[in-house]
Amino acid sequence: MKLVFASNNAHKLQEVRAIMPAGIEVLSLREVGFDQEIDETGLTLEENSAIKARAVWDFVSHQPSAVRHQIDGVFADDTGLEIDALHGEPGVFTARWAERETGVHLPEMATYAANRQKALRELAHQSNRGAQFRTVVTLIRGGKEEQVDGVVRGRMTTEERGEGGFGYDPLFMPEGYEKTFAELPSEIKNSISHRARAMQALVKMLNE
Ligand code: IMP
Repeated sequence: MKLVFASNNAHKLQEVRAIMPAGIEVLSLREVGFDQEIDETGLTLEENSAIKARAVWDFVSHQPSAVRHQIDGVFADDTGLEIDALHGEPGVFTARWAERETGVHLPEMATYAANRQKALRELAHQSNRGAQFRTVVTLIRGGKEEQVDGVVRGRMTTEERGEGGFGYDPLFMPEGYEKTFAELPSEIKNSISHRARAMQALVKMLNE
């Protein structure tokens, strides 16, 4: 089975390919020649996940039939960090949290670092460190849309720890572990993460 994943993010592609069982080939947007910007104008993870999946489905549907018929479906994910003490923020604005505050658009790695600084500032005097990552996946096959999600609960640390992963990983300690996602081996992150759980739900849906 060949599915297009609506992303070019190397970290996410690597994680998703590691999680998917053999027999499901995951193609990136670059591999199918999709080079448009998708405006994530939704106000929820569900909306943005669907917006991305629909844009790519539309693109695939307009490819020559020889290409189109090799593709069994497309899927997109949208992830948010939902912090209990901030009533679920940054949520749908997780990727752009620091940028929203400063208006400064930075390259990806600098954005990740600025977002982590913002999280540490926002939680500086908070004893309630509870948080979760949530991923919403939208699958489109034959024009039919389905959604599943995956959640991992955990705690926000008071300082950055670890070098692995990406984004907020150095600040997030999943439930049941005393290490952050950036300290844990990638196999552990990939077995319990929000994205892993959403992918497991996606695979279950594909097998039904
Ligand atoms: P996206 O919707 O998957 O692009 O994720 C939005 C933002 O959430 C990213 O820019 C990252 O800052 C953050 N994020 C998503 N997944 C993870 C993860 O596995 N670890 C840490 N941060 C993540």
